[in-house]
Amino acid sequence: MAQNSSSGGRTRADIGVIGGSGFYSFLKGVTEVTVETPYGSPSDSLFLGDVGGRRVAFLPRHGREHHLPPHKINYRANLWALASVGARQVLGPCAVGGLRAQYGPGTLLVPDQLVDRTKSRAQSYFDGEERADGQVPNVVHVTFADPYCPVGRKAAVGTARQAGWDAVDGGTLVVVEGPRFSTRAESLWHAAQGWSVVGMTGHPEAVLARELGLCYTSMTLVTDLDAGADTGEGVSHEEVLEVFASNVGRLRDVLFDVIGALPDTADRDCLCTNPLGGQEPGITLP
Ligand SMILES: [Zn+2]
Repeated sequence: MAQNSSSGGRTRADIGVIGGSGFYSFLKGVTEVTVETPYGSPSDSLFLGDVGGRRVAFLPRHGREHHLPPHKINYRANLWALASVGARQVLGPCAVGGLRAQYGPGTLLVPDQLVDRTKSRAQSYFDGEERADGQVPNVVHVTFADPYCPVGRKAAVGTARQAGWDAVDGGTLVVVEGPRFSTRAESLWHAAQGWSVVGMTGHPEAVLARELGLCYTSMTLVTDLDAGADTGEGVSHEEVLEVFASNVGRLRDVLFDVIGALPDTADRDCLCTNPLGGQEPGITLP
């Protein structure tokens, strides 16, 4: 439920962006909206602003003070909060490690596949467990063969290339539990599977978005070569922050262009829109 003193459409958005303050801090007239969900509090308030003629809700994934490590993020609350203000298309930019030498720092890769190696995260709304508000979700199984929105992916790749950033179209994002980086053996294993990039936050964002019928598009920025793809000392957090900081402006520009290139909510006709395929959710969806 959104609570804010401003009225009407100012507290609604049709696009959500899960990413840090670098993406919205300079926007004028940003409206801060506090949202509580049946799953608890999201990482922070939502920050609503206008981008490219669209109303966008930004949510700092790790909190505005970056106080939440990847395994402590309340992913269910985050996606629920975005959906509850009206967002039906979500962009999830994130930092990743490259698993192949050609995906060096500064590479933008828009994955089309996902491997889940997380361990402790709630990754479904449909777990059959009674919620605090008394509603009981049914156990429901969604199709997840294609975890990302094909329309959003196309917009992301096309927009980046138009801006002169030769985005990699497709690849597999493997999501690890973190917060530590991979060992050399894990990294070599990930690379040997043919996977492309490794991160800590892409899952369960994508599957929770799917359960709610939201379009979700991952945009990964390579900040380092992962331990097995590099011959150096392995990844340090400092290096990651440096590369991210030097690319965040460019990523924001592309992200904003992607927002403008997304279809109107009413025109969505992709595979994301009917995830339950007739199965009854048992709970009221946002
Ligand atoms: Zn979609």
